Amino acid sequence: MPRTLSTIGKILEKINIKGSIRREEPLSRHTTFRIGGPADLFLQPADPDELPALFALLRGEGVPVFPLGGGANILVSDRGIRGAVLDLSELRGGRRADGPGGEPRLEFLAGTPVSAACEQACRLGLSGLEFLYAMPGSVGGAVWMNARCYSRSISDVLAEVQVAEPGGDLRLHLPGPEQFDYKLSPYQGMDALILRACFRLQEGDPRAIQAAMQANRADREAKGHFLWPCAGSVWKNNRSFGEPTGRILDSLGCKGLRVGDAAVSDRHANIIVNLGQATAAQVLELMRIVETRVFEDRGYRLEREVLPVGDFPSA
Ligand SMILES: Cc1cc2nc3c(=O)[nH]c(=O)nc-3n(C[C@H](O)[C@H](O)[C@H](O)COP(=O)(O)OP(=O)(O)OC[C@H]3O[C@@H](n4cnc5c(N)ncnc54)[C@H](O)[C@@H]3O)c2cc1C
Repeated sequence: MPRTLSTIGKILEKINIKGSIRREEPLSRHTTFRIGGPADLFLQPADPDELPALFALLRGEGVPVFPLGGGANILVSDRGIRGAVLDLSELRGGRRADGPGGEPRLEFLAGTPVSAACEQACRLGLSGLEFLYAMPGSVGGAVWMNARCYSRSISDVLAEVQVAEPGGDLRLHLPGPEQFDYKLSPYQGMDALILRACFRLQEGDPRAIQAAMQANRADREAKGHFLWPCAGSVWKNNRSFGEPTGRILDSLGCKGLRVGDAAVSDRHANIIVNLGQATAAQVLELMRIVETRVFEDRGYRLEREVLPVGDFPSA
């Protein structure tokens, strides 16, 4: 038996949290791809105050911990994830937390769905988050990924982030713009959980905010984002390629390429969709086929935006 499994059996008795604890939970229930094998241990804490101690307990016992937000940017292996998946999706909610000089700010728990955060800002007449509306995923995942929509990154409006460290301490992180880049955040190199994030906003007209949000949703719907399970763009754009990755893939005839039920979307060549029963292995094989085609034709090495997670022999 792998060491983590026997360890998990022992530490289950020590875990006492509000929320749910499951073993062998299929990750396909928690990813927008609807793909992914079981997590040895699946923890869904319901009380943010319990998260630091839980994180410290797991790490103290040597259990690998994978933080899960909305599962909107990951491809989880068919064999699942060894160790513990810490699902933060029940830690949700926002509150006003104005900054120096009364600057309007809103703070959200990491598991708050991005769209719910935008809607709350709109109800309060606060503008600044509209560009993120209708993007799947959680506030914590969006900060970790430095999510980017309509030429703006979440780092443009980020004021403060509260992180839980492996020892169980909470730390306030004040991220400077120099710490972020295109789809890169300092949290990607940090051994920590994002617990809360606070955003700089401006007073605005709720009707105008609402209109901007609805326009973004309509644009995504028109682009077919929600027709099939997927994880958004599979590869990053790269300025040195001179054109968006999707256009390059389209010009190389990638639309409609298929391995089993994994297919390159016929609406957008930078999106791989699950047509029904796709496996992670099929998605990965399709990714490799596309990457090889681009390399052989253009000499470019595509950089993956979707993250292969878990027990992959070689991703
Ligand atoms: C239809 C569709 C459209 C999309 N459009 C866009 C788009 O326009 N722009 C864009 O940038 N992305 C887009 N995406 C991708 C995805 O929505 C974003 O990357 C989103 O920010 C992922 O958030 P998540 O909560 O789902 O993260 P997850 O997929 O759950 O996790 C992503 C990574 O973040 C880490 N993580 C998550 N939460 C935490 C936390 N609290 N603390 C520490 N680490 C954490 C995870 O461990 C993992 O490594 C799209 C996806 C879909 C399905």
